[in-house]
Amino acid sequence: MQNTKKVIGIIGNALVAHTDMFGDVTRAYVNSNYVQAVLQAGGLPMIIPPYGDIDIIETYARVCDGFLFSGGNDLDPSLYNEEPMKNIGAFSPDLDSVQLMMFRVFEKTHKPILGICRGLQIINVAREGSLYQDIPDQIPESIQHVQKGSRNHEFHKVMIDSQSQLAEIMNLPLVSVNSLHHQSVKKLGNDLKITAKASDGVIEAIESSDNKIIGVQWHPEDMIYDSKVMNNLFTWLVDHA
Ligand code: MN
Repeated sequence: MQNTKKVIGIIGNALVAHTDMFGDVTRAYVNSNYVQAVLQAGGLPMIIPPYGDIDIIETYARVCDGFLFSGGNDLDPSLYNEEPMKNIGAFSPDLDSVQLMMFRVFEKTHKPILGICRGLQIINVAREGSLYQDIPDQIPESIQHVQKGSRNHEFHKVMIDSQSQLAEIMNLPLVSVNSLHHQSVKKLGNDLKITAKASDGVIEAIESSDNKIIGVQWHPEDMIYDSKVMNNLFTWLVDHA
């Protein structure tokens, strides 16, 4: 039987992990719920490690039918011409550079791209937007966006713009999401529009004007076991791949 599954490249992260027995090791990884979410949507997940030159990246661009930029650390604020503020988290210029290069190559294929959390931020910064480096510092009236406890909890609400592709996907004007971020979009990048906001005005979702790219600031992959509507985002990615 011919395999008709769509290959979804999940762009991974790098981290230095301490092991008790074998010292510090650098790992290329994604959290398994991204893999599970793509499987549940009927796609074939392929983890893309955040390494490689332009030839390697162009090969991934050909091999994959769609792309998922996963969550992770902060971005280097010099990418949007700012000095680091006091509450910025850890960032890695090498990781930023390869993931930004991947986004620029992958978007040229016009294959669908879903960005989650840091993934949304990569999209916005690649399109010359900027970020709030720390929401509590810079938006004093903001609600809490870093929930304690379980990652799958519905923590705060977001209002979805009815004139967006996201509204079609979610089919709800108001949706409860989890929240595990301390940064968010400040200046919107080129050819992007805001499609969802929290009650404090923090931007929670963006999409491209050609409908090929969607970014969400929450973590739908951690909600797929409890929420039908969160699976719709991954189904969109696989169905448009
Ligand atoms: Mn939030």
